Amino acid sequence: MSPWLEPLRSVLDGAPGKATFFFRDDDGGWGDARLHALLGVFERHAAPLDLAVIPAALGGELARELSARLRAAPELLGVHQHGYTHCNHQSSGRKCEFGDARSRAVQRRDLAAGAEILRERFGLLLDPIFTPPWNRCNAATVGCLAELGFRMLSRNRGAAPLELRGLSELPVDIDWCKVIQGELPLERLGSALATAAASGRPAGVMLHHAVMTEADLAPLAELLRLLSTLPAGRCSLMREVAATCEVR
Ligand SMILES: [Zn+2]
Repeated sequence: MSPWLEPLRSVLDGAPGKATFFFRDDDGGWGDARLHALLGVFERHAAPLDLAVIPAALGGELARELSARLRAAPELLGVHQHGYTHCNHQSSGRKCEFGDARSRAVQRRDLAAGAEILRERFGLLLDPIFTPPWNRCNAATVGCLAELGFRMLSRNRGAAPLELRGLSELPVDIDWCKVIQGELPLERLGSALATAAASGRPAGVMLHHAVMTEADLAPLAELLRLLSTLPAGRCSLMREVAATCEVR
């Protein structure tokens, strides 16, 4: 095992129960070749992956392939909605597709249009989860999501609290691509994973396949191998985490 995973292994070895991890890969519809590379890594380790799909970017070929994967092995893939077009509508400040620059009515129109596209492609295999682009949305968004039948919102841990209107919230803890582009990437990844596992909460790892190189995928494969071999490690789909763990 690589030294950078030692802190995580140490936490898992001392854990009283199982530590649950989930992997949320954003921007489905962009960079399909890189998505296939990422799907291959998860497939080789029989690890489950949640894919947040941009409805307006989803091509027919990818939709058919994902549908086939969902039907063949529903325990290994989850598909849910990631915005609508993934465009920034703010004129200033931080990027946001569903933010204060747009009215509730306009947000609802786009959320519904995106949901319609994905329902047409995936039917009942679609998870009622919403990941807002850039992990940001506002109270109006949540109200619309509740009306449209969504059951879960996923943003960053530590995002400003929103009235959830009956939805549960399952945040991500680690931005893999951000950490891996910084100084001492593996050491920082190992430390962040160990901290998340030690929290006792489900630990969410956010991925962005479209910008992940082969070199970025290598440590991910090492992590999945470790989680699959240690009895205290468990990888789950987001829908399973919601069913088995207490989420907000
Ligand atoms: Zn995104």
